[in-house]
Amino acid sequence: MQFDQVTQYFDKIEQASSRLVMTQYLSELFDKVPASDTKEIIYLIQGRIAPQFEGKEIGFGEKLIMEGISKATGFAREEVEEMFNKTGDLGNTAEEYMKKRKQQSLATEELTIKKVFYNLKKMSESTGIGSQELKKKLLAELFNSASPTEARYIARIPLGNIRLGVGDPTIMDAYAMIITKHEQDTLALEKKKAKSKKEEKRIEDEQRKLKVGIREKIEAAYNIHSDLGEIAEILKKDGTSGLDKIKITPGTPIRPTAAERLPTAKEIIEKLGTCAVESKYDGFRLQVSKDGDKVKIFSRQSEDITQMFPEIIEAMKTQLVAKKCIVEGEALAFNETTQEYYPFQVTIQRKRKYEIEKKSKEYPLNLFLFDVMYCDGENYMEKPFFERRKKLESIIKDGGIIKLSEQKIISDPKELEQFFEEKIAQGLEGVMAKDLNASYIAGARKFAWIKMKRSYKGMLDDTLDLVIIGYYSGKGKRTEFGLGALLAAVYNHKKDTFESVAKIGTGMSEETLAELEGILSKITVKIKPARVISELIPEHWVQPHYVIETRADEITKSPMHSCGKEKDTNGYALRFPRMIKLLSDKKVEQATTTEEVINMYNIQKRVAMDNTEEK
Ligand code: ATP
Repeated sequence: MQFDQVTQYFDKIEQASSRLVMTQYLSELFDKVPASDTKEIIYLIQGRIAPQFEGKEIGFGEKLIMEGISKATGFAREEVEEMFNKTGDLGNTAEEYMKKRKQQSLATEELTIKKVFYNLKKMSESTGIGSQELKKKLLAELFNSASPTEARYIARIPLGNIRLGVGDPTIMDAYAMIITKHEQDTLALEKKKAKSKKEEKRIEDEQRKLKVGIREKIEAAYNIHSDLGEIAEILKKDGTSGLDKIKITPGTPIRPTAAERLPTAKEIIEKLGTCAVESKYDGFRLQVSKDGDKVKIFSRQSEDITQMFPEIIEAMKTQLVAKKCIVEGEALAFNETTQEYYPFQVTIQRKRKYEIEKKSKEYPLNLFLFDVMYCDGENYMEKPFFERRKKLESIIKDGGIIKLSEQKIISDPKELEQFFEEKIAQGLEGVMAKDLNASYIAGARKFAWIKMKRSYKGMLDDTLDLVIIGYYSGKGKRTEFGLGALLAAVYNHKKDTFESVAKIGTGMSEETLAELEGILSKITVKIKPARVISELIPEHWVQPHYVIETRADEITKSPMHSCGKEKDTNGYALRFPRMIKLLSDKKVEQATTTEEVINMYNIQKRVAMDNTEEK
């Protein structure tokens, strides 16, 4: 398929005023793309050249792109740079220069999706001597043949910054829309002919069920096989029945499950009955898969981070008796001298690309495994947790850095309270209660896991992971950083939108302000992104891309913010929000959800009532 047809849609998607309109354009585009180009188009929209877990990054430097623009248009590099400094967007810069280009190369050809994709892929794979020249040549080929609009995207994609604002859930919705289109059209006709309100309602219900059913099937496949390109290709070729072929495979990450929260031991036991209660370790989560001698380690974002942890690769080979398995756990740096675990700030230093050996000696890790999803040909995800735990216990050999998470079976709230206090005294974050009969619910936050932290017992002390949707330029001293405050949102996972919840002006050092301005100015957009819901209008909108950990004193009801706001009701907002840090291991769709904020608000209310009763 011609790239030109694709960029016409990209243009519409970029301008879309709402998520629904965006999904409609996306589904029209996907409908037109042939199966042979489907994988490529999905990766390009995700701003990638391969699924995330393959670890092939597309990010090139701005310099290279500027040189490419200069070569293809005949304008001096300095001129290109000057305009880039003014617009802050190399895509727009490329487009403008392409419109007034001084020279037209003879070697032009019509660009196809394949040509664009494979040139970018070759560019990202080329290393060593001569690679810089090869990259320039491959990029020049694309720019020489590009129209101004095509040039805008050719410049943006290799920077890892396509700015379409399309997320994985939007892609899945667009496919559900295509697959159900025929039936939906028939139902729409029926609805028009409906003789009563009741019949209309029945048809509407059927329409909704139809879409939800297909969407759930697509998501279930994605949950165990995080390659949306491949899933889309299967859908295109064989429809939803093709998804039955997708099986759990070591080496392909499963989307992680997440925990709900409850404030008291009593509420946890009321919800779960007898349950398994584990220490909640404060390190980072790893999903590790083993296939014979091949070990792969994935982050919570399903990125391949295998190379960062040589000692875990070794331990998986010696301590895990299963030939093939997928297990999950929390890694923590351990201080041999004091026999204590390091705090999170130290552990996180192990997530690095350089000086891996040195740091692994300085801060060796322990990995506490808490789940198994697959073992020697058998899918364990569907099995109840107590069976998974038994399996996990049977496949770990003692005596190394891989350990089992500490666990106790508890049915009495008092005992749970005591276990919790013990863990807090040991310097842990809290406890994690687990439903003994629940399956592993990939990609979702459900009451199969419930976390209880010290913080829930007082005022709001748990942190929230918010998505930056805009920013305000600084006033006074802050002007020099170009950033004074952030507009941040939670994720509404039911609507796949980002709803404003806080304006954050504090918690950021001068260094952070400058760093944030640097990265945010690269993703600004002129109009409010289609998936963003906010009545507050920042000076600069940005594509939802970065997640920040935020602390606040309280959650309050507010007419200003869109989080959880319905027609006639107030939304929710954070009181005295302050930024703690930028989170690099969370996707925007893994941020705190609207539902979680409402739950936290209710917990806060219950705790406040309990406190008054106690007094
Ligand atoms: P938090 O900031 O509380 O960790 P989160 O939103 O980052 O929350 P959640 O999924 O809500 O993540 O909390 C579960 C996290 O706790 C897991 O991602 C995992 O990294 C960590 N964890 C620590 N110990 C355990 C354990 N024993 N079982 C499961 N998860 C654990």
